[in-house]
Amino acid sequence: MENKMIYLDNAATTKTSRTAIEAMLPFFDSVYGNPSSLHSAGQRAAEALSDARQRIARCIGALPNEITFTSGGSEADNQAIVSAALAGKKSGNNHIISSAIEHHAVLHTLKKLEKEGFEVTLLSVGEKGIVDPDEVRKNIRPETCLVTVMFANNEIGTIQPVKEIGRICRDAGVPFHTDAVQAAGHLDIDVSEQNIDMLSVSAHKFHGPKGIGFLYAKKGIRLSNIIEGGAQERGKRAGTENIPAIIGMAAALEEACDGIEKNAARISALRDRLIDGISEIPHSVLNGDAKKRLPGNVNFCFEGIEGESLLLLLDDRGICASSGSACTSGSLDPSHVLLAIGRPHEIAHGSLRLSLSEENTSEEIDYTIDAVKEVVGYLRSISPVWRDLINGKKNYIVQ
Ligand SMILES: *Cc1c(COP(=O)(O)O)cnc(C)c1O
Repeated sequence: MENKMIYLDNAATTKTSRTAIEAMLPFFDSVYGNPSSLHSAGQRAAEALSDARQRIARCIGALPNEITFTSGGSEADNQAIVSAALAGKKSGNNHIISSAIEHHAVLHTLKKLEKEGFEVTLLSVGEKGIVDPDEVRKNIRPETCLVTVMFANNEIGTIQPVKEIGRICRDAGVPFHTDAVQAAGHLDIDVSEQNIDMLSVSAHKFHGPKGIGFLYAKKGIRLSNIIEGGAQERGKRAGTENIPAIIGMAAALEEACDGIEKNAARISALRDRLIDGISEIPHSVLNGDAKKRLPGNVNFCFEGIEGESLLLLLDDRGICASSGSACTSGSLDPSHVLLAIGRPHEIAHGSLRLSLSEENTSEEIDYTIDAVKEVVGYLRSISPVWRDLINGKKNYIVQ
């Protein structure tokens, strides 16, 4: 076990599945035409593209022409939000509702729009890390042009009540976008059943390749271009289509969706075993609702610990973990998600995210529980903050 890598950072990215890799290979050196070309090589690629679009649409209950391929989740989020904002501006509506725990692809896009005169309401989530649909209802105004609330959170794994929020938006006639990057391939998605108008997906979070994703936009929703150029994607996203990646994404999404129930049962059993084991560490707390969370997400805060050193020592033991989102690592700011669920700065710095996949085993989980216990114990033994806590000079934040 010592020499083997235990990969527990599947919320950051996943291993590309064999199925996806094998599906992609012919599209590098055999079917390599440009789907916009009229000759047969191009038309073979165009057929494969159309087939992938249909298969992807089927996985989320959409129509093929409601799918726009993008470079990933970030681009899909940008395009959804900017499109709704531009449409709103035309009719004088400049108010957007979102949540405090969104991914930066959403939050930073909203920041930019604020500078351009839009007004943004960020809903709070409470300690459980879940948006209250009633808050959405209460904050919708006549000038609201978009509600964007993520399907599932990338740091604490909480699953949001998207169907209810979508219902409220539909009744109010406001478009509803959801960043489903952590949900796709892991939770059931049906855009019509769940009242979703726009939905962002990224392949590399469900064992597909990196740098590819898509934006679903319900028929009737007008998308604006982020990338200008040729007429690909019905004129909504210029650039020669990344055919191998699109084929890989279709294969990975189908594989993930076919196995959703089986994988969710297996992974959530491992997750709960991990949560139970880590909970035995004194002055530790689980972040996010214990039940309404992604099958593979575990996120804890430990009193008296620096997240950074925790990760390095776990890495020494072969465990790949994260202290929150991959995007925040390297910066000293504590996670905006942990702050939003009310964790004080001191605690938010001592966080650990372990995100599982169907490849993890119960042996790996038990090894990880022991390693986390050992490393937290060691870091506390050399921590001046911890010494103050046990000497009663400071009060514990986590009981
Ligand atoms: C990973 C992630 C993104 C960004 O997707 P990319 O394909 O890496 O651009 C957006 N939102 C959430 C919730 C994510 O987890």
